[in-house]
Amino acid sequence: MTRAMSGGAKIIDGKALAGRVRTALKDRVQAFEKARGTTPHLVVVLASEDPASAVYVRNKGKACEEVGIRSTQHKLAPTTSAKDLLDLIDKLNRDEDVDGILIQLPLPKQHDEKRVLHAIDPRKDVDGFHPVNAGMLARGDESGLVACTPQGCIRLIEEAGTSIEGKRALVIGRSNIVGRPMAELLLNRSATVSIAHSRTKELPERVRESDILIAAIGKLEMVKGSWIKPGATVIDVGMNKNAEGKLKGDVAFHAAREIAGAITPVPGGVGPMTIAYLLENTMKAAITRRGA
Ligand code: NDP
Repeated sequence: MTRAMSGGAKIIDGKALAGRVRTALKDRVQAFEKARGTTPHLVVVLASEDPASAVYVRNKGKACEEVGIRSTQHKLAPTTSAKDLLDLIDKLNRDEDVDGILIQLPLPKQHDEKRVLHAIDPRKDVDGFHPVNAGMLARGDESGLVACTPQGCIRLIEEAGTSIEGKRALVIGRSNIVGRPMAELLLNRSATVSIAHSRTKELPERVRESDILIAAIGKLEMVKGSWIKPGATVIDVGMNKNAEGKLKGDVAFHAAREIAGAITPVPGGVGPMTIAYLLENTMKAAITRRGA
C-alpha cells in the first residue's frame, strides 16, 4: 500500500509494509512451533565496538522478539583472534539448535571478512552472502538464501504497483551486498537490467531512460530530481548523514518526488524492509533445514 502525495509521486511506505511482513511472519512462526515443537533461532555475532553496529544488532534482536523468533547475541571482545571467531562459527554451524548465523559487519582488522563469511554453513547464511547462495542466485535460482536488502527492494517495487517484466531497470552500485543481487533479482523477473558504478559515463542519461531506478551508492543525494524519468519507480537504498546529522538517501528526495511515479523515503523505506527480510530468511532457513 502506498500513501499518495498531492501532485507528486506515491511515497512507498517501507515502515508500514515491513510491519505487515512481520505480522504475517508471526503467524508462520507460531505454526512452525506447533508443527516442530521448536522456535526458529537466529544467532548474531558482534565482534566490533562500532556503536552503529551495536544499534543494528539491538534492532535485529528486537525485531526477532516481535515475531517470536528466538535470538541470541554473541558479543566478542574487539581483540578476539581470527581463529577464535572461525571456531565460534564452526560451533554454530554444527549446533542443531541454530537456524541462522549473522556476522555483523564491519569486522575488526585482524579478521579476513571474506574467509569469515565463507565459513558460515550456506544453509544458515541468513545474509545470503555465501558464494553458494550468491552463485545460485546468479544462475536464476532463488531457492537458497537471498540477500535481504534486494529482496526488500523487490517487495517495495511490487508494493508501488509497478510491474517489473519488460521494464528498463537501472541499478546504481555493484556491491555483493546490494547492487549485484539486486540486478539478478530484477533480471529473474524479466526486467531489462543495467548496472551503473563509479566508472559509468553519462549517468544522468542512463537514469533518464529507466522505468525502475535502484540507487545503492552511499553518496548523499547524488541522484538529482532532473535525472529521473517522469513516472519512474525510485528505490533509494542509500543511508547517508547530512551536515545536520540527519539520515538521507542517495536520491534528492524532494526534487525527485515531483517527477517520479513512486519513491521510497529515507528513513522509512528500504531500511525496515532489510530487517523484515532478515526475519524471513531466518524462517526460510529453519524450514529448509528442519522441514516445515
Ligand atoms: P558499496 O560502497 O559497497 O558500493 C557502492 C557502489 O556505488 C559501488 O559499486 C560504487 O562503484 C558505486 N558508486 C560510488 N560512487 C559512484 C558514483 N559517483 N557514480 C556511480 N556509482 C558510484 O556500498 P553498499 O552497496 O554496501 O551500500 C550502498 C548504500 O546503501 C550505502 O549508503 C549503504 O549505507 C546503504 N545500505 C543500506 C541498507 C539498508 O538497509 N537501507 C543496507 C545496505 C546498504 P564501484 O564499484 O565502481 O566502486
